[in-house]
Amino acid sequence: AKKNLSDNYEYYAKDIEDQTTWRLDMIRRLRSDFMERKLELWFQPQVDLLSEKVVGMEGLLRWPDGNNGYISPAVFIPLAEYSGLIVDIGQWVLEESCRRLKSLNESGFDNLRVAVNISIPQFRDRYFVDKVKDALKASNCDPSFLELEITESVVMDEPQIVIDALSTLKAHGVAIAIDDFGTGFSSMSYLQKLPLDRLKVDRSFVKDIQPGQSAVLAETIVTLGNKLGLLTIAEGVETREQASYMIKLGCDEAQGYLYAKPMPFEELLDFLQHAKN
Ligand code: C2E
Ligand code: CA
Ligand code: CA
Ligand code: CA
Repeated sequence: AKKNLSDNYEYYAKDIEDQTTWRLDMIRRLRSDFMERKLELWFQPQVDLLSEKVVGMEGLLRWPDGNNGYISPAVFIPLAEYSGLIVDIGQWVLEESCRRLKSLNESGFDNLRVAVNISIPQFRDRYFVDKVKDALKASNCDPSFLELEITESVVMDEPQIVIDALSTLKAHGVAIAIDDFGTGFSSMSYLQKLPLDRLKVDRSFVKDIQPGQSAVLAETIVTLGNKLGLLTIAEGVETREQASYMIKLGCDEAQGYLYAKPMPFEELLDFLQHAKN
């Protein structure tokens, strides 16, 4: 039967209306849970591929859903960005990461770094550089143990602003990693303009590593990183095969379920106490 165009339109409009209502409701809940300090910062260890010693960790946000579960960051981070909430939440993540790092130092783990994800709206905040410095100062953390993770889309949003901010922070001692590398399809010319330390090989390329097959993209990315004089870290390493393949390619570090999943800070402490370090 022939469908009525205006009917279709109504369905479509209803859909958008539902989506908008859902989105606004989620943002409202996110704001109030953040204000009530209900967001959690979990940590996933990062290891040296050869020795498997823990060299650092990535801070990852968790939003409890009030039902013993968590709302995926893939769902709420975009909403936090869209609403601008990510500026304050991201600042809390920075401060919390520095505090946790300090407390690890005090427990005798004084050689670990913490990596923090930074979103576009945070760079658009003209006080961003000062805020990072403040977070370090407030917890008396050595800047060289903080690493900022940025994606290609962050760079492409406002290349000059991002390059300037990162150069200032790099001069302050902070390390910089490019996240999800290879998924952005963006110009690679910025790679030499950014003050980078580390390149994170996206999980999708590591996933390609299957027994008896070659993973040409993972190989190309590690080679590129090495040629640029950067350290490389493989994301999402889940199997021994993937780990040994990455070692063969000359990749330096790894992060993934093979070693550990993201965990609350208290569990991280326990994990570190029992780890090889
Ligand atoms: P990401 O920065 O690429 O973080 C790595 C994601 O891969 C994490 O997902 C982590 O749990 C997952 N992962 C790590 N190893 C494995 C593995 O072996 N297998 C599989 N299947 N997954 C693995 P998560 O925690 O769900 O975070 C998703 C994304 O949300 C992050 O991707 C990041 O883009 C964003 N995000 C999380 N926390 C923050 C934050 O504090 N600030 C900002 N701006 N974004 C954040
Ligand atoms: Ca990341
Ligand atoms: Ca990543
Ligand atoms: Ca990724």
